[in-house]
Amino acid sequence: MGELEGKSALITGASRGIGRAIALALAQQGARVAINYVASATAAEAVVAEVVAAGGEAVLVQGDVAVVEDAARIVKATVDAFGGLDILVNNAGITRDGLLMRMSEDDWDSVHNTNLRGAFLVTRAAMRPMLRARGGRIINVSSVVGVVGNPGQANYAAAKAGLIGFTRSVAREVASRGITVNAIAPGFIVTDITNAMNEAQVAAVMGQVPLGRMAQPEEVAPLVVFLASSGASYITGQCINVDGGMVMG
Ligand code: NAP
Repeated sequence: MGELEGKSALITGASRGIGRAIALALAQQGARVAINYVASATAAEAVVAEVVAAGGEAVLVQGDVAVVEDAARIVKATVDAFGGLDILVNNAGITRDGLLMRMSEDDWDSVHNTNLRGAFLVTRAAMRPMLRARGGRIINVSSVVGVVGNPGQANYAAAKAGLIGFTRSVAREVASRGITVNAIAPGFIVTDITNAMNEAQVAAVMGQVPLGRMAQPEEVAPLVVFLASSGASYITGQCINVDGGMVMG
């Protein structure tokens, strides 16, 4: 019997990368998982198929987290499918890198819309079912870049730092209702986002990672499973790094 048997989970941006690994890890612990994606239908269907093939339960929920109607529909579809929502993982995210002087308003807005507004809209929609259930776990996927900054990522770092402030505020708001809200801050993880980095960028980053390598998405997912589990019942409002030691203290 898995640690999360009978729980229902929604993972935004679960078609690829870190979200996919989180969805598979939650399902492996017995959670029924809603796989959200915005465009990659085939990849998202493959994640659902992988969960089902392993004996788990999964549904596919297309929708753009940054669009208010979609965010509400994504949560409703999860609740309709599983009868409730116990675990929300706000993972959907994008980058639009560039130096500040050349950064367009669209690069700024689109990154904020998906990474920060998306988390706000989906979390707000998830409040009602979680309050009704008198409990829930919300885990926001931030980034070490939101903690220490990164040249060329002012838009992304600001959104990810905003997500940490959002996490702490909502954690204080809903603590008395049995809902915990935490953030995780991955370092450099091998996904489509980091595959877009050139050799010089990778070399520069590796110089800052004591463990000397990037991580696989499967090395991030166990922290989310833990934060969703009963073992994390007294942890809220935290931001926990998974970064090979990049940021200490
Ligand atoms: P990825 O491989 O590019 O996957 C991004 C996921 O987000 C995809 O499933 C994508 O869906 C989904 N998505 C994008 N925009 C969306 C929207 N508007 N609505 C719903 N879903 C949307 O990225 P990743 O590297 O796994 O990153 C996942 C999260 O971890 C992000 O929040 C990212 O900022 C964060 N993070 C990543 C790293 C890293 O090194 N990779 C480090 C720190 C933090 P489609 O497939 O349908 O496009």
